[in-house]
Amino acid sequence: MNKNLKLITPFDPWHSKLCTCPPKYSFSPWTGCSHKCTYCYITPYIFNAFKPRPKSFTILQLKNELNKLDKNKPISIANSSDPYTPEEARSLLMREVLPIFIKNGFKLLIITKSDLVTRDIDILSKGKVCVSITITTLNEQIARRLEPNAPSPISRLKTLEALNKAGIPTIVRLDPLIPGINDDLNSIKAVLEATHKVGVKQVTTSTYKVKPDNFKRVLLAFPELEGYLNGIYSRGERINMSTYAPKDLRRELMLKVKEVADDLSIDFATCREGFPDLHTAKTCDGTHML
Ligand code: SF4
Repeated sequence: MNKNLKLITPFDPWHSKLCTCPPKYSFSPWTGCSHKCTYCYITPYIFNAFKPRPKSFTILQLKNELNKLDKNKPISIANSSDPYTPEEARSLLMREVLPIFIKNGFKLLIITKSDLVTRDIDILSKGKVCVSITITTLNEQIARRLEPNAPSPISRLKTLEALNKAGIPTIVRLDPLIPGINDDLNSIKAVLEATHKVGVKQVTTSTYKVKPDNFKRVLLAFPELEGYLNGIYSRGERINMSTYAPKDLRRELMLKVKEVADDLSIDFATCREGFPDLHTAKTCDGTHML
């Protein structure tokens, strides 16, 4: 254990000017994640990113850090590696740390793709917590190709339902939208209608940002889209060490989601796209629901 290494840090996504998150902290109990999503953004900066390791720290260290933090700012778990990576089922690390945050009066923003979060509803329902669940598509075949080791879209829907029934506010993250894969209007409608039915009141969405290694994985999983995606992203813009799709296309995609959200009266936000003017949600990350 490195005693000088901070476990909880101010959330700062590479100084991104496009980030609309309110001030908050960031905590990742795991380094790496074995959901193995093709588009995953952590692989360029985490060694062996698809082989997760629990962070090494003591509860005393965690408590000491919490004592120095501002309780008005929520703690986001996690903006990097999914806290409910499959290995969490045996390690129970989240069950160990969640009560410490909650007993110390901290508000939590949980972000995951896993139904494993329902295991901890008994703890989460005692605190001020909002859970964001990513669902990129309801199509099982596409989901398998996109997120090979993550729980199925149906089980993520059931997870949202269980959380909402327990009174824990939720967000669906339709994130990322990848042109030619899950940006079709029917696909977007299917996700939003299904999540609306199980009680979700907000969608936060974004477009796919290319980094060389995630692009290789996406093309390996969807070789038929090589020419199409190369055509789009070769016209894109460089922002924060990633290649974004061209701005007009990004706005068009965000508007497509917003129109469906508006029809269903679901609050809408984008994530690091540069279109805060489109937001109807008070915050993109759910801070206002805590
Ligand atoms: S769940 Fe998140 S951290 Fe895990 S592989 Fe997928 S994109 Fe990466």
